[in-house]
Amino acid sequence: MGMEKILAHVSGRPKFSPMDLATLNRTVLSLDEALAIAQQAKSPTCYLQSNQTVINHDGSVALCCTVYDPVNFISSDFLSVDREDLQNRKKGSSLCPQCMSHGLHDYAMYKPNDQWEEASTRKQVESGQQYVTTMFAKPHIHQKRESKIKMLRNNIAKIINTKPL
Ligand code: SF4
Repeated sequence: MGMEKILAHVSGRPKFSPMDLATLNRTVLSLDEALAIAQQAKSPTCYLQSNQTVINHDGSVALCCTVYDPVNFISSDFLSVDREDLQNRKKGSSLCPQCMSHGLHDYAMYKPNDQWEEASTRKQVESGQQYVTTMFAKPHIHQKRESKIKMLRNNIAKIINTKPL
């Protein structure tokens, strides 16, 4: 989801479409839970601003990979602007200070990584998912092991077509 919509949400003027809301309802962490975690990081700079250049399919350059609205693009043609100028345009963007004041640059980078990992793993386990995914720790997919007695009960229940004990 684009930074513009997240920024509108944290500014108290949400503009989510019904499809956006349906997507948000499927995430492991709610948007507000995720934002609360990101706001712990308080990174003084933005990695996306300093270290990445986003060139779109048509040659335009976005401020960063989180923005979708063309008003937040910094060039319509990456070949016509040198890298230093692109960097200066990013640094001069009025969107970045707003974004950083709400911790959205850390939200975009899933920072602090350990807190995202802990909270998202805990919620998956609590929801009873058989498979739990981790964002950073490898392997990324873990199968929850059932106790042998529970597996036996489930197998018996299947065979005799009744509910497990
Ligand atoms: S501060 Fe926000 S809008 Fe600016 S580059 Fe970083 S993530 Fe993108």
